[in-house]
Amino acid sequence: CGIVGYIGKRDVAPLLLEGLQRLEYRGYDSAGIVVNNPKSPALKVVKAKGRVRELESRVPKRFAGTTGIAHTRWATHGAPSDINSHPHLDADNKVAVVHNGIVDNAAELRAKLESEGVVFVSETDTEVIVHLIARSQADTLEEKVREAVKAIEGTYGIAVMHADYADRIVVARNGSPVVLGIGEKEMFVASDVAALVAHTRQVVTLDDGEMATLKADDFRTYTTSGATTTATPETVEWEA
Ligand code: GLU
Repeated sequence: CGIVGYIGKRDVAPLLLEGLQRLEYRGYDSAGIVVNNPKSPALKVVKAKGRVRELESRVPKRFAGTTGIAHTRWATHGAPSDINSHPHLDADNKVAVVHNGIVDNAAELRAKLESEGVVFVSETDTEVIVHLIARSQADTLEEKVREAVKAIEGTYGIAVMHADYADRIVVARNGSPVVLGIGEKEMFVASDVAALVAHTRQVVTLDDGEMATLKADDFRTYTTSGATTTATPETVEWEA
């Protein structure tokens, strides 16, 4: 339902929780957040059924990180619960994914992954994306995500973090909005400009079939086939 992400220098958890609150008007049943400190990479995750307020109350005092992604979920596959909330992670806690949309071929992909020994922890369609990325043999995070999105059918706006690629967030869009917010030595991503405009008015709207890599001081966009696309930030007008 709602996605917000950040990479930069600021303490990320308060920023993302505030961003989620700005997306609450869309409706949701649960929420979650994952953060990472690129200086000592280790993904830290908190999820909660219910309101963003509930999530906020569960975030520990020490939850330092300068990169993170967060989500408000409107359940389509699997009942609202702490476990089914996003972000979803692999068993090694390396890959974290938030997802808006529906993976139509999730049941087939899940059966295939399970036959290869993958143990699923949630009932969501989203979790297949996590395992596809985690098991990819590709050399870069971009290629791993590209392989995963090629395997899935359906709609998605996704944001991905990987502990071994701590300097970036990779995002992809097909049928579910993804906008980048371009800041000064910091980058944002969201499913809706409402979550960004408090921080930047410079936005790039991804097209279907497009992906992006966000680093603190740089971003680039490309297609799911790997071809570079041009993305010129536009200035959004917004009445607060
Ligand atoms: N299909 C996913 C789920 O049920 C994402 C739903 C959403 O867009 O929030 O977990």
